[in-house]
Amino acid sequence: MNSYRSYAIFLYTAGTATACIAAVLFLCWKVLEPGLYIYIPILQPVIGIILFFAATCCIVLYGLLWIAAYTHFLQGKRLNHVFNLYLRIVYPLAKLLASNKKNVNEAYISFLNHLVLRCHFSIPPHHVLILAPHCLQWDQCPHKITRNINNCHMCGKCSIGKIRELAEKRNMHFSVATGGTLARQIVREYRPQAIVAIACERDLISGMQDVSPLPVLGLLNERPYGPCFNTTVDVEKLDKLLDIITGRKS
Ligand code: SF4
Repeated sequence: MNSYRSYAIFLYTAGTATACIAAVLFLCWKVLEPGLYIYIPILQPVIGIILFFAATCCIVLYGLLWIAAYTHFLQGKRLNHVFNLYLRIVYPLAKLLASNKKNVNEAYISFLNHLVLRCHFSIPPHHVLILAPHCLQWDQCPHKITRNINNCHMCGKCSIGKIRELAEKRNMHFSVATGGTLARQIVREYRPQAIVAIACERDLISGMQDVSPLPVLGLLNERPYGPCFNTTVDVEKLDKLLDIITGRKS
């Protein structure tokens, strides 16, 4: 999918979600206002201001997302963190409203990547962590690689060997996680300045949201045999993302 089209798909769905949130806040106000006026008049303006402020923030942030998507303005790690917090609220609703959930998920990941890429980070390679899921490993492989990636013999039967080679060539950390808990543990242990994560849509989205404000680039794995079994990844795409995050290419 073309990147700009993908951002538009996500932004239109996020727009519908934002409008729904603003409408719900307005309805809340309409329901609460008469009761507050009669029983707790002192709270009436306070609740009114809070609801109005929340609705305005959502609408303003939505407008800023469009600017961030299509211009060079509004770059920065802190601003990305604010966008991430807002998207964390909007995304579940956007997904609920979308007719094609897969498209929205992919568009969301692409948009989160775009927010990171536009900051033109130049992270030293030894501060970059490549995080991959366990399902990339060939299911017949006898070597245990989750605790120690050096146990991989780079036999070429799965993508793990190629990624290990890439990570060694670039002097980067590379780890394989069996799930979200281990992934979080690895991140705490290495304390990277940036992560390039490989996973399926669901894991990528939750992981990218969890580690914000740490910059994360997400790369979807390919699942020729179905989910969580002998998955693969486009190593060339991974190589390009590593080039970008380390500032070797823009
Ligand atoms: S490349 Fe590594 S992980 Fe994959 S099958 Fe070979 S030894 Fe096992």
